[in-house]
Amino acid sequence: MNGARLIDGKAASARVLAEVREEAEALRANGIHPALAVVLVGNDPASQVYVRNKVMRAEECGIRSFEHRLPPATDEATLLDLIAGLNTAAEVHGILVQLPLPAHIDEQRVLQAIDPLKDVDGFHSENVGGLSQGRDVLTPCTPSGCMRLLRDACGDLRGKHAVVIGRSNIVGKPMAALLLQADCSVTVLHSRSRDLPALCRQADIVIAAVGKPRLIGSSWLKPGAVVIDVGINRIDEDGRSKLVGDVDFDSAVAMASAITPVPGGVGPMTIAYLMKNTLAAARLQNPAPANQSEQTACLSLS
Ligand code: NDP
Repeated sequence: MNGARLIDGKAASARVLAEVREEAEALRANGIHPALAVVLVGNDPASQVYVRNKVMRAEECGIRSFEHRLPPATDEATLLDLIAGLNTAAEVHGILVQLPLPAHIDEQRVLQAIDPLKDVDGFHSENVGGLSQGRDVLTPCTPSGCMRLLRDACGDLRGKHAVVIGRSNIVGKPMAALLLQADCSVTVLHSRSRDLPALCRQADIVIAAVGKPRLIGSSWLKPGAVVIDVGINRIDEDGRSKLVGDVDFDSAVAMASAITPVPGGVGPMTIAYLMKNTLAAARLQNPAPANQSEQTACLSLS
């Protein structure tokens, strides 16, 4: 590879997970055993793999996990009952409902039923609103992981022009909100945008979250741009099945100054930030007691 520096998501996620292990230990020393409940409805093979990986990663980090596997025909009321129980279970700090849900279940109704303080995916409207207002809330894992990669790669992000391609609720929109919070100038592109390559060429930072294999080539990039490729697309090539991103890595690498690979870029960060969010949720539910002087002040006021 010539040109761009490789942004190694595996190495970055290992650093994040080491932080998580340390923080989880500190919480346990204070009598809080962080715990994540993972809910899977149905037998989708990809979802089963994701859930298994999340549970495994949690255990490795010293986070307790509770798995709830429900049959495909589970009705919405049963799922909502389970979530209501998890919301009130003091030993559960994070709740993750694996998506997609079967078509007969209203995904939004289910996500809205999760206590916002336990919403480790950051999809509840309370957390979505909080993010857009710049409040300290649980934020979606993939964009949070991208921000960490960007901070590691670029340092100070202030004043940089970031172009986000894709406007989904899971990636594009929260990504744009986080970049804005980091004082970037942000442009969001989507399927109705005109002349995407020209708009993209203005960017210091490109975040590709489209779901179209190798859409973004070197002609879309300004020399020296930093490229974060969120896309995960399975294609058949040269007689075998492989994963590629939304960026045409081989051409982009000559134009960019730093770039994430697929696989091994953003993917590992998503799960690492799920673990981070579980600890953040545990802290939100167990706020530190006021310090001594504040306690004294309260006593003297009463
Ligand atoms: P969605 O399908 O929900 O959103 C795709 C977005 O891309 C939409 O906003 C759509 O625009 C836009 N778009 C589609 N085609 C074009 C085009 N030709 N030009 C410009 N914009 C276009 O996808 P997600 O956001 O959920 O995921 C995006 C990619 O990221 C996927 O490959 C997914 O697998 C991957 N992903 C990876 C994760 C990871 O951990 N690495 C986590 C989550 C997702 P419009 O709104 O107008 O339809």
